[in-house]
Amino acid sequence: MEAKDTKIIKINPHNPEIEKIKEAAEIIKNGGTVAFPTETVYGLGANALADKAIEKIFLAKGRPQDNPLIIHISSIDQLNNLVESIPDRAYPLMDRFWPGPLTLIFNRTKIVPDRITGGLSTVAIRMPSHNIALELIKYSELPIAAPSANTSGKPSPTNSSHVIHDLLGKVDMIIDGGSTGIGLESTVLDISGEIPTILRPGGVTIEDLLTILPKVEYDKALEITDREIVPKSPGQKYKHYSPDARLIIVKGEVDEIIQKTNNLYSKYESKGMKVGIIATKQTYDKYRGKNIIIAGDRNMPETIGASLFNILREFDELKVDIIIAEGVEEKGIGKAIMNRMRKAADGKVV
Ligand code: AMP
Ligand code: MG
Repeated sequence: MEAKDTKIIKINPHNPEIEKIKEAAEIIKNGGTVAFPTETVYGLGANALADKAIEKIFLAKGRPQDNPLIIHISSIDQLNNLVESIPDRAYPLMDRFWPGPLTLIFNRTKIVPDRITGGLSTVAIRMPSHNIALELIKYSELPIAAPSANTSGKPSPTNSSHVIHDLLGKVDMIIDGGSTGIGLESTVLDISGEIPTILRPGGVTIEDLLTILPKVEYDKALEITDREIVPKSPGQKYKHYSPDARLIIVKGEVDEIIQKTNNLYSKYESKGMKVGIIATKQTYDKYRGKNIIIAGDRNMPETIGASLFNILREFDELKVDIIIAEGVEEKGIGKAIMNRMRKAADGKVV
């Protein structure tokens, strides 16, 4: 791939400078690629209706061709062109969770390029709640396809330095709009079947969804590590979010976690390996003298979600061989945190 001259611009996330937004929108309109912040993670955006533009996203990320992209919109009007019909149950969901970290799966129209959906008859759509993302879509006057702005397989980017690390020279523009808030990707919800099904846990929790829907299930492929089961969300079958180091997740009661973590640390250190611990506010002082990064507060798991991908990247910078991560309870945002940790660990839980 030919190296591009990537322009980096800083935009105020609270009050985006419209001149700068227009400059970025011009790139999208001309079929180029712009990385921008959303409330979940940074996205790599391009015109969702142009094959050549979409192609650039796949190239820059090294993304497998059959892993479909989410289309980002800034107003409900944009849906009509993209989807065959809007199921009744979509309305209260859009009302409650858009703009926000909920991606819905719809039956698509012919306007949506095959390149976006990997040939599926459905399309994934969301309306992000980040000011920069919304303004960029609005001024582009186009739906924007935007997967996470990382090299495929690496942890998703939660600040512009992660994007610069992965995509400098591969995209036309990188917008620096500070750190993303949630730090984990959107929830992907399939509402096309009888029972609404979560294909990927994310920023909107099952508990949130159950305030609107009578019944919600997780896709079976999420519950079982059996590789025979093909996930409905093509992206879920790939190894993801992987640091260079090997990740081990430690589960159990807090005391048990501390003990197992200390034992594992000693074991790997004695083999001459460099080890790191993803600790929490409640536990860090039990790992005296060890190489730790505090992810957040076990009682506020959203703090752990917000810092997880950054920590995986930090440990890679530190050239750690083994990362030991404390597991969290699988409720609320904890479900998404454990999903990402498991994928990063390729299933290794002790
Ligand atoms: P990313 O854009 O990197 O956050 O990944 C997008 C996620 O949405 C992947 O896990 C995709 O498999 C999933 N996705 C996108 N379009 C569809 C679709 N039409 N049906 C099911 N899953 C989808
Ligand atoms: Mg991604």
